[in-house]
Amino acid sequence: MGIGIPGTVSAASGLIKNANSTWLIGKPLAQDLNTALGRQVRLANDANCFALSEASDGAGAGQAVVFGVILGTGVGGGVVVHGRVLEGGHGIAGEWGHNPLPGMLAQELAEIDDCYCGRRGCIESFCSGPGLSADFFRHSGLAWAADAIASSDHPAAKAAVTRFTDRLARSLATVMNLIDPDAIVLGGGLSNMESLYRDLPALVESHAFTPEGPPRILRNKHGDSSGVRGAAWLWPS
Ligand SMILES: [Zn+2]
Repeated sequence: MGIGIPGTVSAASGLIKNANSTWLIGKPLAQDLNTALGRQVRLANDANCFALSEASDGAGAGQAVVFGVILGTGVGGGVVVHGRVLEGGHGIAGEWGHNPLPGMLAQELAEIDDCYCGRRGCIESFCSGPGLSADFFRHSGLAWAADAIASSDHPAAKAAVTRFTDRLARSLATVMNLIDPDAIVLGGGLSNMESLYRDLPALVESHAFTPEGPPRILRNKHGDSSGVRGAAWLWPS
């Protein structure tokens, strides 16, 4: 049994850390599940599971380096290199959602929110579903869910999507400069926005260090089940 979770299991303590489902933080979830189920369970970060699924036999299959992004209630990321998840020395490789939004404009600096992680102005605060809703509310006074904003022709909604897309492009450009992935695969509810696949590549290219062709930005192949499939991949066949 493999399970994708928000956050990760600390190698040092065996306890959950970095979860936006904050009630899991500091809890021995893996141990509890092993005991309750009477079998060994493997846990991994949900974005890492998603990236592994899409790199194995999804949209990123055949690509050497895949950056998987979850744009949902949070913003997560995972890096797969030649079919293996890059865990990192502290289990946080790919967690770029808690970097500060790059190149913040004066207005964005004035609008930054506190993040559950204790920092301010995290990419997640702008590029998650709740982040899009909060931005739209600030500008329009309307309390809409992210999917309603994404699919609306309302001028304020279109403007919010434009701001969202540029923020996401700036954020992905920093990933380009660091690991230059062969493919970026988008997942989570906001990955259903068709306009991202049309508008993001050129925007990311314009913000990245080299204007030598846009990055390959792909929609996931396995949809909502992708992370679950990746969790199953945690066990060798
Ligand atoms: Zn944060």
